Amino acid sequence: MSDPGPLRLLLPVAACCAVLAGCAQPASRRDAPLAPREPAAPATLEREVIGRSVEGRPIEAVTLGQGVGRRILIIGGIHGDEPEGGRTVGAVAAFLRALEPEATIRLVPDVNPDGTRAGTRTNARGVDLNRNWPASNFTPGEGRGPEPLSEPETRALHEEIRRFAPELLLVCHAARNGPFVNFDGPAEGEASAFADAAARTDPRWRVVPSMGYPTPGSLGSYMGVDRGVPILTIEFARGHGPDAAWAAMRDGIGAVLERSRLAR
Ligand SMILES: [Zn+2]
Repeated sequence: MSDPGPLRLLLPVAACCAVLAGCAQPASRRDAPLAPREPAAPATLEREVIGRSVEGRPIEAVTLGQGVGRRILIIGGIHGDEPEGGRTVGAVAAFLRALEPEATIRLVPDVNPDGTRAGTRTNARGVDLNRNWPASNFTPGEGRGPEPLSEPETRALHEEIRRFAPELLLVCHAARNGPFVNFDGPAEGEASAFADAAARTDPRWRVVPSMGYPTPGSLGSYMGVDRGVPILTIEFARGHGPDAAWAAMRDGIGAVLERSRLAR
């Protein structure tokens, strides 16, 4: 594969940040390349390929944290034209590794690498990967797939969810009326914790309990509504600056982890 894939961007950043004690800012896209051709140090995060896209690009995952405590799955992106969250994953990985939180965290930077490459919401077959889940409200149709899990990307993530059995999910998106945190299932406390923490540096962040339009077959419907697993939909603003997006993730995830730690 010639496609570098998101974790090949992620790992050099993580290695770089590990050298710089207390890495608090992600590398700027303007003044520091995210992906040096030859990383200065071997990557120590063990990445796994959990599946392949329609066009054969790898869908990757890494594990962070102490391997104990609450199991949290963080997804950097599922819609290919919403790269704002995915751009933070290198810094998020470095942050979590330095923090060694009392949680077991799986980070899947990009469920839709074909869409990210093409800049499209959907995968290469034109299916919205956030409408293709076996939720009770799934409806087949153009853009949603003929049946739930008809796409290799959703099957890969579904298998990952089955294996990892997350107790909390955070999924990054972007919306014109962002930034805000939407949630499904019993996640109101986590949504407030994330939004309140992110609002300390950007007061636009708030909790929006309903997206205001139907989302049949969404991951939130499947995991949150049908299965009762708390899931946060982190909606960045369209064009959210990378430094501001990173600050929101750092503070928001930090608050969610602290809440999880206190609840144990
Ligand atoms: Zn989205």
